[in-house]
Amino acid sequence: MIEDSPFVAAAPVLVPMPAERPYTYAVPPGMRVVPGSIVRVPLGPRQVAGIVWDGAVETVDARKLRPIEEVFDCPPIDKAMRRFVDWIAQYTLSAPGMVARMLLRAPEAFDPEPWIEGLQRTLAEPDRLTDARRRVLETAEGGLAWTRSGLAHAAGVSSTVIDGLRAQGVFETVMIPPRPVVAAPDPAHAVPELMPDQKAAAQMLRAAVAADAFNVTLLDGVTGSGKTEVYFEAVAAALDKGRQVLILLPEIALTHAFLERFQDRFGAKPAEWHSDLPPRMRERVWRQVAEGGVRVVAGARSALFLPFKELGLIVVDEEHDPAYKQEDRVFYNARDMAVVRSHIGGFPVVLASATPSVESRVNASQGRYQRAVLSSRFADAALPDLKSIDMRRAPPARGGFLSPVLLEQMQRTLERQEQSLLFLNRRGYAPLTLCRVCGHRFGCPVCSAWLVEHRFRGQLVCHHCGHNERRPEACPECGTLDHLVACGPGVERIAEEVVAHFPDARTIVLSSDLLGGVRRLRLELEAVANGEADIVIGTQLVAKGHNFPGMTLVGVVDADLGLANGDPRAAERTFQLLSQVTGRAGRTGKKSLGLLQTYQPDHPVMRAIVSGDSEAFYEREIAERERAALPPFGRLAGIIISAATRGEAEGHARGLRRAAAQASDLFVLGPAEAPLSLIGGRHRFRLLIQGERRADMQGFIRAMLANGPKLRGSVRVQVDIDPQSF
Ligand code: ADP
Ligand code: ZN
Repeated sequence: MIEDSPFVAAAPVLVPMPAERPYTYAVPPGMRVVPGSIVRVPLGPRQVAGIVWDGAVETVDARKLRPIEEVFDCPPIDKAMRRFVDWIAQYTLSAPGMVARMLLRAPEAFDPEPWIEGLQRTLAEPDRLTDARRRVLETAEGGLAWTRSGLAHAAGVSSTVIDGLRAQGVFETVMIPPRPVVAAPDPAHAVPELMPDQKAAAQMLRAAVAADAFNVTLLDGVTGSGKTEVYFEAVAAALDKGRQVLILLPEIALTHAFLERFQDRFGAKPAEWHSDLPPRMRERVWRQVAEGGVRVVAGARSALFLPFKELGLIVVDEEHDPAYKQEDRVFYNARDMAVVRSHIGGFPVVLASATPSVESRVNASQGRYQRAVLSSRFADAALPDLKSIDMRRAPPARGGFLSPVLLEQMQRTLERQEQSLLFLNRRGYAPLTLCRVCGHRFGCPVCSAWLVEHRFRGQLVCHHCGHNERRPEACPECGTLDHLVACGPGVERIAEEVVAHFPDARTIVLSSDLLGGVRRLRLELEAVANGEADIVIGTQLVAKGHNFPGMTLVGVVDADLGLANGDPRAAERTFQLLSQVTGRAGRTGKKSLGLLQTYQPDHPVMRAIVSGDSEAFYEREIAERERAALPPFGRLAGIIISAATRGEAEGHARGLRRAAAQASDLFVLGPAEAPLSLIGGRHRFRLLIQGERRADMQGFIRAMLANGPKLRGSVRVQVDIDPQSF
């Protein structure tokens, strides 16, 4: 390079913005960057962290370019991860910069963790030995370096005692490297004795890890069959090979028990990754994953974007769980993206579930995935006996929601000093409040939704935008006092009914809006597992993966609830949720029972649950999807067009529809008002695009957006490839 030439090297840098492609920056003389380097660059008036991207490094006029300010002292983002970002951007029709943003969420981690000042014992002896000093010397025996406060704390003395010893040269100052966030897991720490079918499944997984190539295994086993135990064998195999492992869990913040179980097996906890992690911890985990110090991460879907140094296995536990879908900015399903990540990285992935998604079942039956099956519970634990209660024949008492049949079983369970769980997937007290005199219904002022009464808090709350108001005494429409009625049940109302029937039982409500947040929920879940409650009333969060040893009765208050919304995925979701929640019962040898309160006992979902014949359910569901050319037999995408006024939203949606090309394998449905036509004051319309399996959905939508009306005013367009509900 000629020193005084205006032409210098330049590099493409992907910045965490809705940018369609990397921006070009000048590389100052003497600075070394490689694709993947994390750099600080100016962006408008700000400085941001970006990633040096792939593509030709052009030579451009330096006078027009702003320079890279700094290259962080941080391992570069590897090629597999860069391809992954590009792939997701392409697939979800998102700006690559917005995908990169998910990867750059731990800014302080880009600088190395500082070494900290510590103290180390020298050969010098103190002039005088007091009790306190003796304790310090005993604690520091062994030659390890300590922090000043750490040593004082461990020895049970004040820091001034330490300072005194330091002044006499008994301790010298040394620098200590940052401590690992977790200890190294030991694959041989506590190897379990596996049952024959577990052994076969573990063998399949170990072979996949040994082959060191892309491969998907669906680990399909009833609740309590030992899936976790089995995939731990795959984790051990990957660790033995010197690879890092990612375990995705749908509700990591609530699965404290999982971390302990992992520790029992491997002698150390995995690193956690989720949004409730304190920022400092996030940064340390990010950095240590990048440097390879952390070997196993248990995380929420966002852990897919951690910069692993040598990732060699991903496990997606509860792979069917809707929590894996992100529906904000970049719309993606972490289960599907885990498969893509493994494909790019050339290593195996395990999808585990007692109730796999229809997609995964079809992939297995068509041979794209291998399938390992565990068909019975471990040891003497038996699946609960499952029955439906026909609510037309055994209706609850007036004003109640619990059938006498269910109440009687609860009574017996109490007498045996065992636990019951009542499941209702509705937070709050009642989903609708109305005035008995004039019929006024309380709706959200900015959403097309009713306000849900939360009686413990004395509020009416919108579950879509968070709007809340005090529950008034008088009707705002007709002014009549004390004639507002609650319609339908939420968990709080069921709790009221339970307390009325069983005043001496220890009853608790578990739902995500519990005061005290995640910490409190964790404690409550632990309390339930330890037998400190007799009757638990919970929303869907109690359905997930928890092990409650004393639980022998599960009652589903409204088994029909999820079937009513007309969504083609409703049957699958309801089947999964009901199987999971009834699966909380009977984890130990005791006899257990699951009761479904339903008005449609002949519905295929109820019949499948009661008969235990999940194969028949999947067969029927798969045949129906195939007939309707719905996923996974066809492709589907949703486009949500929202705006401040209904007219703007509808106008833009119609414009987009007109811009759609004629295609033989894709067609557009709508625009129609979206299922929730108003959220937070924004009116929403939806276009649905349905196509054949091999159709170029992305190309079709891209052209439609390019040829359609320009985005104007308050209009926003969001593309949802493979929507959850349709
Ligand atoms: P799943 O993940 O399929 O619901 P788990 O792996 O949680 O099942 O197993 C259920 C229970 O059985 C757990 O308490 C687990 O520790 C125990 N278990 C399963 N397999 C074994 C085994 N081979 N040896 C000892 N305990 C086991
Ligand atoms: Zn609202």
